[in-house]
Amino acid sequence: MLKTLHKYFGYTTFLPLQEEIIRDVMERKDVLVLMPTGGGKSLCYQLPALLFDGLTIVISPLIALMKDQVDGLISSGITAAYINSSLSYAEISEIRGMVEAGEVKILYLAPERLMVPGFLDFLKSLPISLFAVDEAHCISEWGHDFRPEYRQLKALKANFPATPLIALTATATRDVQEDITRQLNIPRCGRYQASFNRKNLYYRIEPKVNPYQQLLKYLEGHKKESGIIYCQSRKMVDSLSTSLQEAGYRAIPYHAGLTAEERSANQERFIRDDAEIIVATIAFGMGIDKPNVRYVIHYDMPKNLEGYYQETGRAGRDGLPGDCILFFSYGDKAKIEYFINQKEDQRDRDISYQKLKKITDYCSGNTCRRKRLLEYFGEDFNKPNCGGCDICLEPRERFDGTVAAQKILSCIHRLGQGFGINHVIDILLGSRNKKVIERNHHALSTYGIGKEYSKGQWQSIVRELIQLDFLDMEGDKYPVLKLNDKSRKVLFKGQKVSLTKPAAEPQKRHEDVVDTFDRELFEILRTLRKRLADGEGVPPYIIFPDTTLKEMSTYYPDNPTALSNISGVGEKKLQRYGDIFLNHITEYCRAKGIKSKQVIPEWPAPIPKSMPKDLKTSTLRMTLEFCNKGMTLEEMAEKRGLAVSTIASHIEKLILSGEDISIDGLVPVEKQEIIKKAIDELGSGALSPIKEFLGDDFSYEEIRLVRAKMRRILDCKSIPYGIK
Ligand code: ADP
Ligand code: ZN
Repeated sequence: MLKTLHKYFGYTTFLPLQEEIIRDVMERKDVLVLMPTGGGKSLCYQLPALLFDGLTIVISPLIALMKDQVDGLISSGITAAYINSSLSYAEISEIRGMVEAGEVKILYLAPERLMVPGFLDFLKSLPISLFAVDEAHCISEWGHDFRPEYRQLKALKANFPATPLIALTATATRDVQEDITRQLNIPRCGRYQASFNRKNLYYRIEPKVNPYQQLLKYLEGHKKESGIIYCQSRKMVDSLSTSLQEAGYRAIPYHAGLTAEERSANQERFIRDDAEIIVATIAFGMGIDKPNVRYVIHYDMPKNLEGYYQETGRAGRDGLPGDCILFFSYGDKAKIEYFINQKEDQRDRDISYQKLKKITDYCSGNTCRRKRLLEYFGEDFNKPNCGGCDICLEPRERFDGTVAAQKILSCIHRLGQGFGINHVIDILLGSRNKKVIERNHHALSTYGIGKEYSKGQWQSIVRELIQLDFLDMEGDKYPVLKLNDKSRKVLFKGQKVSLTKPAAEPQKRHEDVVDTFDRELFEILRTLRKRLADGEGVPPYIIFPDTTLKEMSTYYPDNPTALSNISGVGEKKLQRYGDIFLNHITEYCRAKGIKSKQVIPEWPAPIPKSMPKDLKTSTLRMTLEFCNKGMTLEEMAEKRGLAVSTIASHIEKLILSGEDISIDGLVPVEKQEIIKKAIDELGSGALSPIKEFLGDDFSYEEIRLVRAKMRRILDCKSIPYGIK
């Protein structure tokens, strides 16, 4: 498995659960895989496809993406093809011929193909080893993306009862899971659920005060990066993309009102890095495989947390940091309520309201965003600080907010409880805006008494007061602020109010990752990649993902072997692109007098600051238990049916995440000393040079464990967080 993994995909280790899933599939078991976007689902059927003798059929709902998926496989040296309605009759016959001749390992199909007369019989004539159903939630009406064609997939188990089937989705709710196993008729399947925590994503909610300016401010610092900006309406998409273009950004629109050609052309430009920004309605994104989306901005409030999670999930598929920013206002909430009101069905309306309430709580809350989001999806998250959301990274002090509350409440009182949040704040700030003057509100005693806070700060104070029930907001279309019993206590009975100190200025993004790569070389390689990609008519990431270019720009490999040790460089890609990339790298190094670092970046898995719960409950914990029983690596591997190297990497993760494990039973103490000396000498970056230095008496696993112990003691910060 590891050999094939490295040969075709250029990776040396598995992501969490991949190995276990692949083993099940190889034993011809049916499995259901629930993993968040970026979790590495595709490999769970692509690797078995290579290991099995016969053909693997992949069902995917997105015709537009099949070509890219297939191009990606082909560029890694895997024979793949697709059949869907975009192909002509002649092309389809040609592919059928190739499939029949056994020249294709992986065949992608749209679900409706199964209904084409005679197609099932064609499939039955083939040696099929595996069916993979991608985006399996499309089969369920409970999901957010029901596709009636998916119901046809019932035919798979009926016609191929003995062929294993793997269903994959990034949607985790119970209802959907049950629906999938029932509809696909895989009741006894193995189930694998990865944590839905996206560690590399940074969640932040900003009060929507002046959204366009807020957006520009953010973009200013992220000029060359790819990002998605979601808006609620087509009109907003059009006007925002035009404004951004005028401001000099390569921003393009995407919504259901464009023609199919415009849509696919725009999507293509985004995927191929010909435009950095796509401004879109939620029509955009399902199955977008672009790995290097660095930010997702919700310009308007989303309708529910399911959608928000999916949309933000499109950032950072490559494991590098991604920002998820949402501009929140009660006005947007009211707009959504208005739309919900239009719905015919009472039940539908009720569900939509409940969902809207949840996301409103999420946005206006003062507790960790990650915790709230995961809890919504039924996952506990108990860390006191997630290290990746505005609440945790900018812990705000509390203050005695009684006076501030009294100012707001009395202003609302003087206004006869008939105005919305912005008007009330305008009065507190002494605004000379038309609405204020026309109504003679500048004559109120509360006019201009709140200049100590900015508009955004007042908004957050008002929000918190609502959340703490000191104030009500009523009405759908034009919500107005109303006093309640608790407000009266503050106004007239001297009740104290403790509030979160409002942030001084919009907060800055926190860099989790120490980006130590050579940016200049990275740009050169990126340009090269773009040129090659355009020449071949494929998206750039098909050639190499950003993570691979960054590793190249860190280690400056100067020969094919060194290059092949860069993560993401498999055999085929080495053959095909090795020379040209090496030429560019060595030329750059020569000009700059930079020496290649003979280091192989075999970074261990991301280092959680403390042990993530999901790992604690699953595979790592089992290893830990065995380890505590004093078993050797080989015994553990045997017992768990995993490779020795996997067990070693488990223990490494455990050690790095703070577990106090003695390795004396796994690596003899004398050997530990020698390995330590070698690591001191050669650095702890990569295993291979150390192994080379120490020779055959020392195994990779032994070196790995000693290194982990040393890193644990040293500073773990220098290891990129989130890579792999
Ligand atoms: P999903 O379909 O679950 O969203 P993908 O299959 O697109 O995820 O994989 C996400 C990213 O992780 C891709 O860039 C992929 O190349 C990378 N990846 C998958 N498996 C591994 C692995 N074992 N080691 C390193 N990277 C991996
Ligand atoms: Zn947090």
